Amino acid sequence: MQLIDGKKISLELQEEIALEVRKLKEQGKKTPHLAAILVGSDGGSETYVASKIKACEKVGFKSTLLRFPQYTTEEKLLHAVHELNNDPDVDGFIVQLPLPRQINEHKIIESILPSKDVDGFHPINVGRMVLNLPCYVSATPWGIVHLLHQYKVETSGKHCVVIGRSHIVGSPMSILMAKNTHLGNCTVTLCHSKTKDLKSHTLSADILICALGSPEFVTADMVKEGAVVIDVGTTRVESTETKSGYKLKGDIKFDEVAPKCSLITPVPGGVGPMTIASLLRNTLMAAKKEVYPA
Ligand code: NAP
Repeated sequence: MQLIDGKKISLELQEEIALEVRKLKEQGKKTPHLAAILVGSDGGSETYVASKIKACEKVGFKSTLLRFPQYTTEEKLLHAVHELNNDPDVDGFIVQLPLPRQINEHKIIESILPSKDVDGFHPINVGRMVLNLPCYVSATPWGIVHLLHQYKVETSGKHCVVIGRSHIVGSPMSILMAKNTHLGNCTVTLCHSKTKDLKSHTLSADILICALGSPEFVTADMVKEGAVVIDVGTTRVESTETKSGYKLKGDIKFDEVAPKCSLITPVPGGVGPMTIASLLRNTLMAAKKEVYPA
C-alpha cells in the first residue's frame, strides 16, 4: 500500500504557479487577483476561505475577501457579484458555499460571469466540461484527476466507482473519469443514496472515489484487493485530541481499508490540499485569459 501525498503534489503545483506569477510580473503584466465572498461565520467556511487567501499570498496572487453577515439579502449578494464581474482588476472570484437559506445558490452562481467563475460551478463551465471544451473544471474533481495522473494510475478500461452525485464533486468526477482522454477512459458507475446493494458495485471498483460526507462509511469488506481509493470526505467530528476540539474524518475507515489498497489518500493531506491548488490554477488561467480569451 502506498499513500497518495496530496500535500506534496499540491505544493509542487503551487511552486509551478508561483514561478508563472513571477514571470508575469517580470513581463510587466498584472498580478493575478482572486476575490472571495464569504457569508456568515460558519467555522468550516471560515477555515476554507482563510486557506485559500493564505495560498494566494504564497504564490504571489493578490486576494480580496468580501464578508457579509449571515442575514444578508440575495439582492446585496447579487450586487456584490455584479461589482466583481465588472472589476477589471479581479481575474476570478468564488462565492463560498453553502449559502444561508434565504439566498438562492443557483441564482448567485448563474450571476457570475463564466470567464470569472474559477470554481467552475456556472452552468456554462459545467456544460463546456461535459463537451470537452476549454473551461474551468470544478477544483476538487480536477485535483483528483491530477493526483491519479501524478501517481501514474492507469485509468483506461478500468472500472471507476464514484459514491456521491453532488454538482461540485461526484457528478463532475464521474464525467471526467469517463472522458475519452488519456486521463479518463474508465467505465464509470455513479452511486448515490438510492443505489441498491452498494457493496456489489464498490467491490468491483479498480478505482473507488468516495464523496458522500459520512465518516468511515466505507469498510474493508466493500473494497477490492489492490484498488486505488480516493477519500473526498471531510466531516468535522468532535475530538479531545486536538486544540480546536474537532478533527476531520474521511468517508473511508482508513485503518482497515488501507492494507487492501494499492494506493489511498489520507484525510487530511490527500484530496483537500489539491482543491486549493486547483483553484489557484484556475485563477492563473483566468489571469492569462487562457479559457475565455478577451
Ligand atoms: P453532498 O452534496 O452532501 O452529496 C453527498 C452525496 O453522497 C449525495 O449524492 C448523496 O446521495 C450521497 N450519499 C449520501 N449518503 C449515501 C449513502 N449512504 N450511500 C450512497 N450515497 C450516499 O456532499 P458533497 O458536497 O459532494 O461533499 C461530499 C464530502 O466531500 C463531504 O464530506 C465534503 O465535506 C467533502 N468535500 C471535500 C472537499 C475537499 O476539498 N476535500 C471538497 C468538497 C467536498 P443523494 O444524491 O441520493 O442524496
